[in-house]
Amino acid sequence: MKRIAILGSTGSIGTQALDICRRHPDEYTVSALTARSQREKLFEQVREFRPEMAGLTEGIRPEEIPEDLRFCRWLSGKEALHAAAAEIGADQVLVSIVGIAGLQSVMDALEAGRQVLLANKEALVTGGHLVMDLAARKGITLLPVDSEHSAIFQCLQGAGPNRAEKILLTASGGPFRTWDKERIARATREEALRHPNWNMGAKITVDSASMFNKGLEIMEARWLFDMPEDRIEVVVHPESIVHSAVQFRDGAVLAQLGAPDMRVPIGYAMSYPRRMETGVAAPDLFALGKLTFEKPDPDKFPALRMARECLRASGAACTVFNSANEEANAAFLRGEITFGQIAERVDRALNRLAGLKADCLEEIWEADRLARRMQ
Ligand code: NAD
Ligand code: MG
Repeated sequence: MKRIAILGSTGSIGTQALDICRRHPDEYTVSALTARSQREKLFEQVREFRPEMAGLTEGIRPEEIPEDLRFCRWLSGKEALHAAAAEIGADQVLVSIVGIAGLQSVMDALEAGRQVLLANKEALVTGGHLVMDLAARKGITLLPVDSEHSAIFQCLQGAGPNRAEKILLTASGGPFRTWDKERIARATREEALRHPNWNMGAKITVDSASMFNKGLEIMEARWLFDMPEDRIEVVVHPESIVHSAVQFRDGAVLAQLGAPDMRVPIGYAMSYPRRMETGVAAPDLFALGKLTFEKPDPDKFPALRMARECLRASGAACTVFNSANEEANAAFLRGEITFGQIAERVDRALNRLAGLKADCLEEIWEADRLARRMQ
């Protein structure tokens, strides 16, 4: 029996992880569940999975806890995240909250020696060097949940001493792949939220439309696989069947294919190194007929260039990229700025906040604060 703690259990990744737990009741028990604000949904999950601890980061008062759910320990705020990541007995901690908020939880879970299943890419984007350092000291392999990084990780199984020469990071291209630049700049919230292949939380869906998500994923791959950015190539693949590939020195390219369904990478991280049934059917290659690949358009999607510049600049540039984008993304979702202004805002923050350091968590929080204040 594996005990799993899920941070962000009411979200897209969290609910799919619980779906896997539901399918394998003899293999998984849920030890902790946390959410930010969707309390009714969390109550339902606690009722079904009966964790030892549950938490709402927005806070919950004792009298607000339904009577039948008082068997479990309820916590609020940061204390809830810390307990779920590090205090409650768990073999695995799935960090599936959104944004830089995930960094502290990943550090806490690693510090406590927990196996981290990483959906929250922002932790590596902002604190990659600290996270990878701590994981190495603790002898823990981070298990990626992000579909591309899971694909790369899967392709590297059995590689032995052979290092990959290059990573081919696939991208669907999002809903605006075929639009011209002017039309993209004016895109509405509804248009940005209409992803062609994946059903995900709102923030990452907007990031996929702007390709900021792919910029964040270049950074994530840089840390997970210790690969310089100039050896990570973004390949637009609109069908989202090839989830990424690695290239070796002999000219061989290994790719991982699957339906665009997050339960495959979530399940792989949960059962690694085994594979288990996830409820997802393999893609039907005959029905697909062909798969296509193209180069990303740097003019339409400036996020890719900016991400590479940030990685080359090092220091806190990636944190500024991430935090400015988090703020701009949220402002766009609230209807306060246009889609085109997201990249403009991030570019402006990067120009004004060049040269900040990120040697420790405090410096990262400071860069985060400055990037948000600028918006
Ligand atoms: P979501 O918005 O659907 O769910 C987020 C969950 O985290 C919710 O339970 C929410 O209550 C909680 N949460 C949000 N902000 C929080 C905060 N500041 N503090 C504490 N809890 C918070 O998001 P999602 O789409 O499931 O994405 C989660 C993470 O996984 C993100 O980092 C995202 O980039 C990554 N990811 C998601 C997908 C996907 O298919 N959804 C794919 C790859 C990677
Ligand atoms: Mg991804």
